[in-house]
Amino acid sequence: MNTPHHIAVIGAGIMGQGIAQVMAQAGHRVSVFDVADGAAEAARTAIGEALARRVSKGRLSEADRQATIDRLHPVDRMDDLADADLVVEAIVERLDVKHAVFQELETVCSTDTLLCTNTSSLSVTDIADGLRHPQRLFGLHFFNPAPVMKLVEVVNTRDSDPALQRMLLDWVPTLGKQPVSVADSPGFIVNRCARPFYSESLVMLEQNLATPEVIDDCLTANLGVPLGPFALMDLVGLDINLAATETLWRAFDHHPRFRPAVSVRDRVEAGQLGRKTGQGFYPHP
Ligand code: NAD
Repeated sequence: MNTPHHIAVIGAGIMGQGIAQVMAQAGHRVSVFDVADGAAEAARTAIGEALARRVSKGRLSEADRQATIDRLHPVDRMDDLADADLVVEAIVERLDVKHAVFQELETVCSTDTLLCTNTSSLSVTDIADGLRHPQRLFGLHFFNPAPVMKLVEVVNTRDSDPALQRMLLDWVPTLGKQPVSVADSPGFIVNRCARPFYSESLVMLEQNLATPEVIDDCLTANLGVPLGPFALMDLVGLDINLAATETLWRAFDHHPRFRPAVSVRDRVEAGQLGRKTGQGFYPHP
């Protein structure tokens, strides 16, 4: 397979938007598809606004901003992704929906197209299950916010083609990112290690030992992390956080270390998903 030039991003939510921006800024033509009417166009507008803020701070030229926007192409149908070299799927974290998307992609794209999922916690092997060419499906796990966070987990399965994996590991640095090769296991590396960071903070909150503000302040001050666990859950989305915890909980035989917290589940049921809904552990007016 040649180095990818035309990138398709499926799902124009928090992650799809950020990934599309990264790809366009690296000089690629990017087609963006979302099932929700107007979502791909809205993502393009939001990227334009984010880049305009960088122009006003003198960090980007207006010409580069315009060139980046011109590389972004919202499309209305999956069929419009037929000539993509590489697809990054960043849709809802549900195995059945991801399955359906990749099965459709196999009928739409050529056999040379590299297929990637941005799943945070689902098994890439399970997503590839039933595909005619599972050797070309990888996890390409960007972190939030994608334009800022350097790390990308390149997740390989037992079926992965080693030459394609090598190509991805060589290509990701051209996006200004740092790839790490990881095996397909629950939560990969970062999301698995992050579970106790969240869960112990949530236990302290539920025991009324400290507020989210106090816990976040302690951990940002002392661990050197940019965001504490509660601010991070609000950024990521409590629904996404809960889905990841539930996946690990199931994968590890309901080990109490991974038990989802009541305070997260209650907020998700109340629609308090964090920044995207205006309320999570903190208000986001
Ligand atoms: P999101 O809810 O912000 O966006 C998902 C988008 O996918 C929505 O716009 C929705 O309309 C669209 N969509 C749903 N089904 C679709 C389909 N069949 N075809 C096309 N579009 C469809 O979600 P998100 O936070 O961007 O997460 C997307 C993926 O990235 C998930 O797999 C998640 O686990 C992963 N991820 C999320 C984060 C994070 O911090 N939020 C970080 C890393 C990875």
